[in-house]
Amino acid sequence: MTSRMLNVKESILGANHERAEDIRRLLDSRAILMVNLMSSSGSGKTSVIARTIDGLRDEFRIAVIQGDIASSVDSERITRKDVSVVQVNAAGGCHLDARMIKEALIKLDLDRIDLILIENVGNLICTADFHLGAQRSVVILSVPEGDDKAFKRPTMFVEADAVLVNKIDVLPYFDFRLDAFTMTIGGLNPSAMVLPVSAKTGEGFDRWLSWIKDGIRETMQHRCDGR
Ligand code: MG
Ligand code: ZN
Repeated sequence: MTSRMLNVKESILGANHERAEDIRRLLDSRAILMVNLMSSSGSGKTSVIARTIDGLRDEFRIAVIQGDIASSVDSERITRKDVSVVQVNAAGGCHLDARMIKEALIKLDLDRIDLILIENVGNLICTADFHLGAQRSVVILSVPEGDDKAFKRPTMFVEADAVLVNKIDVLPYFDFRLDAFTMTIGGLNPSAMVLPVSAKTGEGFDRWLSWIKDGIRETMQHRCDGR
């Protein structure tokens, strides 16, 4: 890349970062936890979100910002859940940015929301470069993608607060070494939680759901402290 191109890229990311900080302050002041879910296409973001809603809807008021609508079936699966859903048109782009999230938040009744789940665009290349103001970033990797993905896309995993290994119901049929993968993530990002789950069977969801609940409590606490 030429230095001019680098400068342009830096200023785009800088402006996005400032907007993301604004969003984060807004969410903190409202005691809303926002979780940015990133993955390749086909890793199961929609299924994870659908089951997460099922597990938390009795306790918390949930909204979904959907940037990855692979098919109308995807959006229908979430819309049927009777939660607030805002669809974001990434305009053929490969990631969501903070401006899109700001616009989506305007459409939500923030007084009636505890948790916002963002389904980012299915892409592990640049989604993590664009901060969205979410207090938690989650990368979902599915078993069929292979345990070497963290080596291929390390930047995605370095900033994640949690890594979901989805589709563990098919572990017996794939050469995915869960221990090796967990160690790789531990080396890249020791503070990230690695959570093996199956959005199909529900296995592992108790840990994932309690991780989110901890985040919601922390966000509420944050506001009570007036920080
Ligand atoms: Mg999807
Ligand atoms: Zn992109």
